[in-house]
Amino acid sequence: MTTPIDTEVLVAGGGIAGLAAALAAARAGLSVRLFEQTERLAEVGAGLQLGPNAVRVLAEWGLLDALREVAAFPDALVVRDAPGGAELGRLRLGERARARYGHPYATVHRADLHTLLWRAAAAQAQVELALGRTVLGWQADEGAVSVHLSNGATTSGRLLLGCDGLWSRVRVPLLGDTMPVPTGHIAYRGLVDQSGLPAAQRQRDVVAWLGPKMHAVCYPVRRGEHLNVVVIVHGALDGDMQNWSHAADVADLRAAMGRVAPGLDAVLHAVPQWLRWPLFERPLITGPQAHGSGRVALLGDAAHPMRPYLAQGAAMALEDAWSLGRLLAQQPGALADPTPVLRGWANERWPRNAWVQARSRRNGRIFHLLPPMSWGRNLAMAALGERLLDVPRLYGGLATD
Ligand SMILES: Cc1cc2nc3c(=O)[nH]c(=O)nc-3n(C[C@H](O)[C@H](O)[C@H](O)COP(=O)(O)OP(=O)(O)OC[C@H]3O[C@@H](n4cnc5c(N)ncnc54)[C@H](O)[C@@H]3O)c2cc1C
Repeated sequence: MTTPIDTEVLVAGGGIAGLAAALAAARAGLSVRLFEQTERLAEVGAGLQLGPNAVRVLAEWGLLDALREVAAFPDALVVRDAPGGAELGRLRLGERARARYGHPYATVHRADLHTLLWRAAAAQAQVELALGRTVLGWQADEGAVSVHLSNGATTSGRLLLGCDGLWSRVRVPLLGDTMPVPTGHIAYRGLVDQSGLPAAQRQRDVVAWLGPKMHAVCYPVRRGEHLNVVVIVHGALDGDMQNWSHAADVADLRAAMGRVAPGLDAVLHAVPQWLRWPLFERPLITGPQAHGSGRVALLGDAAHPMRPYLAQGAAMALEDAWSLGRLLAQQPGALADPTPVLRGWANERWPRNAWVQARSRRNGRIFHLLPPMSWGRNLAMAALGERLLDVPRLYGGLATD
């Protein structure tokens, strides 16, 4: 006997991947119940850069106007030497990104993107979003999958989308693997109100500062009203590893960064409060099994957490959701046996996600080079400029094009 179902699609986790997945499934005509463990929507996380590939997904869902209300659209990505301050390279964004890739390059506060997706998902009649519900486990039989929730309830559907992030519980019975491991890198994050800065210090571009065993990235969010500042240094941290919001001591950050150029120093000085969290990862994915099987799919960080050095983790979560939604819409009735549709989707997604994971790691190694290797990097950037900084395979869009 098969389990009767309460809804067609169950979603574990209401971050960027979960909300995007709920929206994509609803747009494919399916009923959705999403469970998010936090009790209320809070301002968690830092800024996010959204390459044209990510903006394209939002545009396909009709969310470009909503994005325009909260995002900034930088004119350039500028790379600078952190100790010396010299410009090493520049990638024109703005109109060039629009012309080349069909969509702009945006920068946004994670909380603003999250709210935008929450509203879009909540506006779909067949979507139910539940806060304060932790998915404790799941069980699948021939015709259904059931999730066990922290309030003691069990709910059943045809398909479970595991969007529960880096520390995913949904993935454990599927992949049977171990916990995420520390990368040995720590992220510090601050937000600066640009209206309080001297005009010369207000920033419209993405600026990446590269130094030995560190880099900093600063870019505008909230229509340019705030400047998001993230610094990555080497080191280890104790405490709650799953929390993105440890208060941080600026003296520790300065000690880890070493000497920096006056331009970067001024930005660091302007940050009123620092938060920090250790960065974790999992081994690079190696095949379609990373995206789940049977009645359970894994999306976003639950499937393929990545170092943030290509700024594409949320973008890949959006792409995962978009591409699954497109396949589900093309195959009405697919949920009677979702195995073929999930296999097709996983085959479509895993090579791109694996490539972005690997490229993110490589970027981190290049960003943090010590002299004399860093001199070679700087020379290559000066010689190749935009050809080195642009990534057409990434920004050009989804693998299905
Ligand atoms: C410093 C830094 C900078 C970054 N910069 C960028 C960038 O510029 N561009 C970009 O695209 N990406 C960036 N990323 C990556 C991006 O933040 C992540 O890849 C993205 O947020 C992953 O989204 P997700 O929904 O998969 O996971 P998460 O955001 O972790 O969401 C998972 C959700 O599931 C919930 N949850 C967990 N377990 C359960 C459970 N058992 N039951 C119910 N709910 C549960 C959690 O509360 C959470 O809301 C950056 C990351 C870092 C660390």
